[in-house]
Formats: sequence, structure tokens, C-alpha cells
Amino acid sequence: ATPTAVMAGTGKGAEKGILFKNSEALEKCSKLDSVVLDKTGTLTEGKPRVAHVVPMNGETESRLVRLAAAVEEGSEHPVGRAVVAFAKNVGNITSQATEFRSHGGKGVEGVVEGDRIRVGKPLWLKSLGIDFEHGNEVLESLEAGGNTTVAVESGGKILGFVAVTDTLKPDSEKAVATLHKMGLSVTMLTGDNAASAKVMASAAGIDRVVADVLPHEKNETVAALQAEGKTIAMVGDGINDAPALASADVGIAIGTGTDVAMETADVVLASGSLAGVPQAIGIGRATMRTIR
Ligand code: ADP
Ligand code: MG
Repeated sequence: ATPTAVMAGTGKGAEKGILFKNSEALEKCSKLDSVVLDKTGTLTEGKPRVAHVVPMNGETESRLVRLAAAVEEGSEHPVGRAVVAFAKNVGNITSQATEFRSHGGKGVEGVVEGDRIRVGKPLWLKSLGIDFEHGNEVLESLEAGGNTTVAVESGGKILGFVAVTDTLKPDSEKAVATLHKMGLSVTMLTGDNAASAKVMASAAGIDRVVADVLPHEKNETVAALQAEGKTIAMVGDGINDAPALASADVGIAIGTGTDVAMETADVVLASGSLAGVPQAIGIGRATMRTIR
């Protein structure tokens, strides 16, 4: 594009709170055919709240919440913060965990009241050989309801489940519809479980979902789509998303997200809204049209 066209495009972006880091970013936006969206914090508000607490195996709700919150106090993950906020709300933060450890994209563990407690993704605990027994039914119904569900385990036994729900940002659905109208394919990419991811995706009008993805696998997913010949924009907010933002043809960071994501991306959307994604692509297309 001519320097004048690029300047005009960059200016138009700035008016809408879209920061193109360089002219290449603007030009590449015009070539995109696919958009991959992170779920938590990108499509959704990223502020989950506890919706259900289900004790199992004779555990009480109060002790289940107390143990889970004690371990999650060491976590910065939105799911962990939701558990801690819930426990604080009901005045149930009395224990402290020692030997805290965080397992990225899986969960956390620590020793509370003398017991080693793990809190995390059911798939993670199952992969460690924990038997959920009749807990599987409860788990399925929680996940089918669109909840991100974490299991609490001690000594090989499931103590129960804590389910959190997150809400779509107000204009996520409209942004997805606009992208589809512009002829782009839209995929949701998340570390969350497939069942709850599909509920969120369908609420946003997205029919392609890649779920249960570990943090380091996000950029592999982007690379696999590129290997199919697709030109991809990855949109994300988290530290987890940074490698995928770097691998994508265009990395787009949500301005309300982490610094790492914003530093890595080619385009930053100052507002938290996804409306900036179709706008950025529209500006890219218009800029390239003016020089043809
Ligand atoms: P996302 O792609 O949605 O941002 P993450 O990769 O951060 O997801 O996490 C994937 C999943 O791992 C979460 O949905 C949750 O089930 C589990 N998880 C991660 N951290 C924690 C934690 N601190 N406590 C409980 N579960 C966790
Ligand atoms: Mg996220």
C-alpha cells in the first residue's frame, strides 16, 4: 500500500481504538480468511462466578469450599479467583495451604489441614488415575450446562465439584456474525472442556470449537490451520495466548488483557470489545483496495 493509504488506515483504526503496530499488520489484515478466538477473557468477560458446589463421597459443602479456596488462594487463574471470592463471600476462608503448586492449564495443589488437595480440570485428575465413579454423571450435567467445572480431590478420592460460569461480552455475538458476513471462518480455541466450550460457542454463533487445549498447544492449533492453507488472525488476552498470537499471520490482543499478549500482538484493541476484530479487517481491506 502507499504510505498515504497506510496512514489513512492507521488513523481510522486509532479513531476506533485499534492500534496497528506497523504497516505490515494493516496489510495482512486484508488477506485473512480465518479468525481464531480464545474463549476466556476474549469472547467472555473472563470474570467467572461460582454457580454450583456439589460435594461427593460424604463431604460437606462447607469443607469442600474451604479446602478448595485454601489451595486456590495461591492461584491467579480466573477460576481460582472465583473459588476464593465465593469462599470469602460466605466467610469460609479459614485454612491456609502449604506446598502450593500450580500446573498450568490443569489446576493447582497444596496441603490443607494435613491433607494433600488437588483442584483442577477433571481430565487432568483422570489422567492421574483418579476414579470419578458416580461423579461422572454430576460432572457431565454440570458441563452440559456450560459450566467450567473443577474437581477437588484428596487421597485418590473426589471430594466434589465446583462449577463456575462466565458470560459472553455484550457484543461478542454481533462481532462473530459480522465476521461470518465478511466471509471469514471463526473458530473458538480454549483450554476449557469441550462440553461447556460448545455451549458458549453456540451462544456466540460459532460452529467450530477446539477445546481441552493445553497452553503450549494453542500455537500448534494455529500452525495446523495454517498448514491447511488458511491465513489466520488469532485473538487473545492471556499469557497462554502469546505464542499463538506470535504464530498467527496476525496476532490481535485485547487491550484489557495481559501485557505479554499486547506486546506480542500485531494489533491491539484498546477496548475489551470484539467489535474491533471485524473493524480492523475492514480497515485492512479498504486500505489495500485504495492502492489496487
Ligand atoms: P482458557 O484457554 O479458557 O484460558 P486455561 O488454559 O487457562 O483456559 O485453563 C484450562 C482449564 O484448566 C480451566 O478451564 C480449568 O478447568 C483448569 N484450570 C487451570 N487453572 C486452574 C486453577 N487454578 N484451578 C482450577 N482449575 C484450573
Ligand atoms: Mg483468555
